[in-house]
Amino acid sequence: MSKSKRGFLIALSGPSGSGKGTIVKSLLSQRDDMVLSVSMTTRAPRPGEVDGVHYHFVTRELFEETIRQDGFLEYAEYNGNYYGTPSAPINQWLAEGKTVILEIEVQGAEKVMDHRSDLVSIFITSPSVEELERRLRGRGTETEEVIRKRMKTAQYELSRAFRYQYVVLNDEVELATARINTIVDAESMRYSRMENTILEVLKDVSTQ
Ligand code: 5GP
Repeated sequence: MSKSKRGFLIALSGPSGSGKGTIVKSLLSQRDDMVLSVSMTTRAPRPGEVDGVHYHFVTRELFEETIRQDGFLEYAEYNGNYYGTPSAPINQWLAEGKTVILEIEVQGAEKVMDHRSDLVSIFITSPSVEELERRLRGRGTETEEVIRKRMKTAQYELSRAFRYQYVVLNDEVELATARINTIVDAESMRYSRMENTILEVLKDVSTQ
């Protein structure tokens, strides 16, 4: 495979309870050509979450300073907290040929869609609203009020799914992971992403 192949960006969205976090973990354990962008947030860490691994947990002041310094590829406010994708590591990963996963909500993903035509966008959904709610409750970390708010937000997010190129049903994690692997493999074979390989082969042919 050509060394000059650039990686690409994937925005992975879906309502709370769609299981996207579990799917991302499963993908990362299977593919060493994939990296997950660690977002910055002003939300408080949940039990078990580690700063620098799950998120960079920061104050509103630091987040707003980063906005002023143009340090985000995108950012959004979600349920009263800021979430943003630090732009610094992204170009480096793409140059190394990595597939970069942005696990982000709908407003942020739509911003990236609007200014990066090379973005691959995937919306993950659970099979039913009952399943969504069951998974949200199963997490056991959220209050009733937060769950109600997230269900309302889920309704909005599902209504924006039409903006995405792909919709992946998460009925079972292994199946959903396999579906995303299929998308990633097919996307990596688009002409635009194989052009350098063709040009290199062509160069060799013409010097023979
Ligand atoms: P949670 O608080 O459950 O970790 O995340 C809430 C939502 O924010 C999820 O939908 C998650 O995908 C999204 N999110 C996480 N990081 C980012 C980010 O950097 N930008 C945007 N726009 N959304 C994010």
